[in-house]
Amino acid sequence: MVTAAGSEREGVLPSASRRALLVGGGVAAAAATAVAAASRPAEAAVQVGDESTLSPWGARPKGPPEPLPRGVDLPTAPRAYTEISSYHAHIYFNEDTAYRAAQLRDWVIHRFKVELGEWNEGPRGPHTTPSFYFGFANEQVPTVIPWLMLNHLGLKILIHPNTDDPYADHLINALWIGETQPVNAFRMARSAKATGGDIERIYPNTRPTLPLET
Ligand code: ZN
Repeated sequence: MVTAAGSEREGVLPSASRRALLVGGGVAAAAATAVAAASRPAEAAVQVGDESTLSPWGARPKGPPEPLPRGVDLPTAPRAYTEISSYHAHIYFNEDTAYRAAQLRDWVIHRFKVELGEWNEGPRGPHTTPSFYFGFANEQVPTVIPWLMLNHLGLKILIHPNTDDPYADHLINALWIGETQPVNAFRMARSAKATGGDIERIYPNTRPTLPLET
């Protein structure tokens, strides 16, 4: 399986322009900014390059807030957090970091009662690189998440809730520890029940042997 981002880029851009993007990214980005500025109303255009309106890292603190993406309506009410039935933590690795992922997996299974998934040395489902996962219960959030914050070993970790909306669980409402990476969940259902499935449940299969360090 190819990553979504990778395949899109390679499919759309001819190799010459791809090279130009890689080599002259800064120049291309500056040109794109200039073009965008020219097409904006005069008031916004004067902000470009005006250091008095830019933070040191280029954000525009005096500008209007970013609008919601087109086609996204502001919800009229918040979702109930009780829609979440459980969580998954997906730990990603590669040939160079597999030993660290193995260490983390070993630490987890000796300390937490969780649903441990298989060790996948290739892409699996929406996961575009080698990975393993463990599922944990809502009551474990206050220990598992802080524990992972301190013990990620430099790995990329996707923590997603399990609700009736797997698409949003993976792509919109996930939590990451470390860097993010593409998750190929774009074909997932917006309602598991409506498509004949059910909300993902977890079945713990580990038996902790060590007390959690406190
Ligand atoms: Zn998952």
